[in-house]
Amino acid sequence: MDFAFTSEQRAIQQLARDFAQKEVAPFVAEWDRLGTYPAEIPRRLGQLGLMGGVLQEEYGGAGMDHISLTLMLEELARVCFMTAVMAGWPSCSLGRGIMTYGTEEQKRKYIVPLVRGEKLGGTGVTEPHSGTDIVRQMQTTAVKDGDAYLISGTKTWISNLHLAQWFITFATLDKSLGHRGICAFVVEKNWPGVSTHPFKNLVGARTHGCGELVLDRVRVPQENLVGREYEGYKVLMAGTEIGRLACAARAVGQIQACLDESIKYAQSRIVFGQPIGKYQLIQAKITDMVVGLEAARLLTYKLAWLKDQGVERVQREASIAKMYATDVLMQAALNACQIYGAYSCSDEYPVGRFFRDAKFQQILDGTNEIHRVIIAEHALGYRPGRE
Ligand SMILES: Cc1cc2nc3c(=O)[nH]c(=O)nc-3n(C[C@H](O)[C@H](O)[C@H](O)COP(=O)(O)OP(=O)(O)OC[C@H]3O[C@@H](n4cnc5c(N)ncnc54)[C@H](O)[C@@H]3O)c2cc1C
Repeated sequence: MDFAFTSEQRAIQQLARDFAQKEVAPFVAEWDRLGTYPAEIPRRLGQLGLMGGVLQEEYGGAGMDHISLTLMLEELARVCFMTAVMAGWPSCSLGRGIMTYGTEEQKRKYIVPLVRGEKLGGTGVTEPHSGTDIVRQMQTTAVKDGDAYLISGTKTWISNLHLAQWFITFATLDKSLGHRGICAFVVEKNWPGVSTHPFKNLVGARTHGCGELVLDRVRVPQENLVGREYEGYKVLMAGTEIGRLACAARAVGQIQACLDESIKYAQSRIVFGQPIGKYQLIQAKITDMVVGLEAARLLTYKLAWLKDQGVERVQREASIAKMYATDVLMQAALNACQIYGAYSCSDEYPVGRFFRDAKFQQILDGTNEIHRVIIAEHALGYRPGRE
């Protein structure tokens, strides 16, 4: 692709590519098999400045532009889905709310060690009965208790339970106010009343450390309220659009991986006396990946570019890029498995893992049904545009 990236953007891309190839690629299949993810990887990401993303240098961030962030995540995801998720978190749901609404002390205490890859965090939003409509249906409650809050509730499908030492999480202080009653808090894993229960035998995203975060009358001091009381919804939303950019960037990297592996296999697998790449029905699958990748990449770069132009609200473009890139990814992963035939079922090849991980990109960062609704509502004039 002939974008005129700056030398700095290319350097970040190359750094991420080299790191992923040398320090992640040899181990990623084994981590997936065992459902583990070593703490050493985020530490290395931190040392290389790859956890700092778009966050300000003052707090240890890398001060990247959004194009650089995109190129970096693409390269990491091409090799390992979780490594790209990890590197993106500080710029997205984990860091953005605190950076926008948090106190100086919260930034120093949680963000600085996070971007060093030393004290990792997680984001606790989803609850057992409610994911998509969580802000309307939140059951986790906060009750004022002198100069603190008592928080009780269960969050589920929370990533990084294995490595996180703290969580930004959300609870309602007044249910009658709906989403306006929500507050954001940082809770630490080792506080009384906090327990984590990782899921076992997951179909995909096995390295993510997903599971339940249970909060049982956890006493959270006032200084761990993020933003003001009743500002939780704003804190949550602060990381939403950049989270969708990160998701689209990861998907682009994962599509590239599906294409790379498919080309390799199609060129070498001999059936009926010639490589399967010579058959037009296989070529059609490769073509769909090539064109889908190109389109997904363009939509993602456009979104990143808009952010770099200082455009604040990119809801429509974020939904378009996230939905399109992850849908193309799902189809590319299916096609890659079809090209590999029976071998896609073996963990000797990575395409089975690509397929298992791809599915969850359509669910994370807003399900693709919800993105379809958002895009249509913009088209129909039911949501305000940028101007
Ligand atoms: C690997 C993984 C990691 C995750 N990590 C985290 C994390 O770190 N922190 C966290 O808080 N959560 C996390 N999640 C949870 C994720 O955010 C939720 O799965 C997501 O918000 C969807 O919620 P749900 O699964 O409860 O689906 P539901 O909300 O129950 O939806 C079920 C289905 O109904 C559809 N649907 C819902 N409403 C509508 C509508 N109005 N119109 C049309 N269709 C609709 C949805 O699109 C979906 O297909 C993770 C999930 C996965 C799989």
